[in-house]
Amino acid sequence: MDNCYLCGNVFDTDKVKRHDEHIIQQAIGGVISDKNILCFSCGEYLGREVDVSFNEIFHSISTRLDIKKDRKLNKKSAIKGILQSKIDQFGVDLGEIEVLWKDFKVTPVVPMHHYVNDNSKVIIYAMKKQAKTYAKKVERESKFKDNKPEMVFCDDIEGLVSYPFKLDGGAFKKGLAKIAIGFASYLGIKREDVPLVLDIKTDNSAEIRRNIQLIQYFPLGALDPRLEELKPEVGYFPTHTLIIFTSLSNPSLLVCYIELFSTFQWYVILNDKYQGDPIYEYFYQRLLKSDDYNFEPGRKYYKERQGILSYLGISDNRINDAYEKQKNNNDAKSIEYVEIEIVKEEHIKKKYRVDFEQEIDNSLSVFTTEVIKKGFSSIENACDIKKGVDLFYDYNTDREQFKILNYKRCYVSNGEYQDYIYSLMTLSGSDKLRNYSFSKFNQLTAFTEMEGIKRKLEA
Ligand SMILES: [Zn+2]
Repeated sequence: MDNCYLCGNVFDTDKVKRHDEHIIQQAIGGVISDKNILCFSCGEYLGREVDVSFNEIFHSISTRLDIKKDRKLNKKSAIKGILQSKIDQFGVDLGEIEVLWKDFKVTPVVPMHHYVNDNSKVIIYAMKKQAKTYAKKVERESKFKDNKPEMVFCDDIEGLVSYPFKLDGGAFKKGLAKIAIGFASYLGIKREDVPLVLDIKTDNSAEIRRNIQLIQYFPLGALDPRLEELKPEVGYFPTHTLIIFTSLSNPSLLVCYIELFSTFQWYVILNDKYQGDPIYEYFYQRLLKSDDYNFEPGRKYYKERQGILSYLGISDNRINDAYEKQKNNNDAKSIEYVEIEIVKEEHIKKKYRVDFEQEIDNSLSVFTTEVIKKGFSSIENACDIKKGVDLFYDYNTDREQFKILNYKRCYVSNGEYQDYIYSLMTLSGSDKLRNYSFSKFNQLTAFTEMEGIKRKLEA
C-alpha cells in the first residue's frame, strides 16, 4: 500500500513516515509486521489508543508464558492471583489468599507463617528478599520462643492459582478490529474494502469503528469439536492464527477469523458487499520461542543463494524493487541488506505455513484413527465424518493432497456443507458458547501451569 489506512496520507520520507506496524500486537507475541500500512504518527496513536488496553487484557497470560520480547522486563513483571488449592506442599491450608506470581514463583502478597508438626516447624512464606526481615518478626513471637521450632522458608507455593482475566469489551473489540484491518491491509486489501470495521470520513481520514460485528467461534459438525480438544496434544500450542476469507455461499461477505493463544476465537465481519475475487489467506505462528525460526545468512547462504531464493519464491526483481523503493531515503539500506530482510521474512512464513497445514493434517489423522478404533455411532455420523474429512483433501491430483481452504470456513452437518459464519450468527449468547469458552480457557491455563513446572525443572 502507498498510503496509511488511518489518515489516508501517501507515504513519503519527510512528513508521512512509515511505521513498522505489528499486525498482532508485539506484547502478546505477534511476529509479523508491515511497514506499508500505517504512518508513524497514526501507528503511535493507535498504539496508545488501542494496543495498551488490549495488551493489558492478556498481560497475565503473556507474562506467565514468558513470550514478551523484552525478557528483562518480563522478569520484573508480577501478577496477582488467588490461591485455589486446599493444601500446599507442607500440608497447610492457606485459604484463598492473594498471591503474587513472579518469575515462575508464587508467594503470598503479604508474608505469612504457619506452625506445623506440633509446632516443631514453622513455615515462612515470603519472597526471598523479604524473608529474613519477616523471620526476625516471627522469632519474637512467644509461641516461637517457647518451642524454638525449625524454620523452613518457602518462596514458591505449590498449588493451583487463578489469575485475573477481565475481558474488557470495548478494548477487546477495538484490538480485534485493529488486527483485522492490519491483516487485510497486509494482504493488499484496500481500506475502502473493510467498511464494517473502518469508517472513512469525507476528508479521507478514517476511524476504527466501535460497533463492529463480532461472532464467537464454536466448533460445529462431527470433526471440529474433537480437533479443538486435540490442539494442545497435536502440534504446537499455543499459537496465533489469522485467516481472511470470503464466505463460500456468499462471496461478497468478507471475514477475518482471529484466534489468539489457541483460545480466543472470533470472526470479525469486514464487508458484506465485497466486490473483489474470492479469497482465503492465512497467517499462523507459534508463540514459544524456537531457534529453528531464526535465519542467519552465513557462508552457506552465499554458496547456495540461488537455490534458497527459488525455494522461497523470491525473484531478483522483488529484491531490486524493494531496494529501489528506498535507495533515496536518508536511512537507505544496501541491496544485500534488503535481500537478507526479504529472505528472513519468507523463511519465517514458509516455516509457519508448513507447520500450520501439517498440524491440521496431523490432527485429522489422529481423529480418523480414533474413529476407526471406536467405530461410528450412527450412519449419519459416518457420512458427516467422511464428508467432513474430505473437505481437507484434494483427490483430483495423483496422490491425495491436503487443502486448507475450508478450515474455519465450512463444516458438514446432516450430509450438507454449512457455512460457519451463518450457522454461528444464530448461536451467540448461548450456554454452549459460554461452556466452550470456559473449557478453552482451562486448556490454556493447564498448559501454562505445565510450562511453569517445566521451566523450574530446567532451572
Ligand atoms: Zn497515518
